[in-house]
Amino acid sequence: MHEITWICEICIKERPDEAISVHKVDLSEAFGIPTSTCQRNIKYCNDNKQCLEGAKAEGENEITRARNIKSREDQEQKDREQKMKYPKLNAHTFVLNPEDNGGEQIHFNTTISRDDEDNVELSHEITLISYANSASINCRGITPEQLRAWADSLEKKINEKISPEKHELK
Ligand SMILES: [Zn+2]
Repeated sequence: MHEITWICEICIKERPDEAISVHKVDLSEAFGIPTSTCQRNIKYCNDNKQCLEGAKAEGENEITRARNIKSREDQEQKDREQKMKYPKLNAHTFVLNPEDNGGEQIHFNTTISRDDEDNVELSHEITLISYANSASINCRGITPEQLRAWADSLEKKINEKISPEKHELK
């Protein structure tokens, strides 16, 4: 039987399971999302004080990075609102993959407004977060109906019986 090993994220050494502990950092508050929706687990050598201290320091750095990403997101949100013809009524954030605690997440931010004729105007920003980095894509007009249609067609595809010929390799 193979012994389970992990890499310490501080000294980068491969260590047996019992020598590795996890320093948990909840980044949710820094991102302004519900508690425990974005958690980072930092692996460190539990028999090396420097690795523990390193993991704690890394945790603090991650929180700072998350806050920086959040303030950048807030600024982009403000810029988006300024570009909108009509004042915003509300904003909405949806975390697509709250279970992913590895620091990689997709946030779907929506700004909602209404024009003179009471038509709803939606402006979206999809933000991909990977540890210290983030990238945003702006898109307009995706409606709840479209998202519902997406979920329905995805569900249909998942439940679809695949015929044997589709399995054949070319
Ligand atoms: Zn270590």
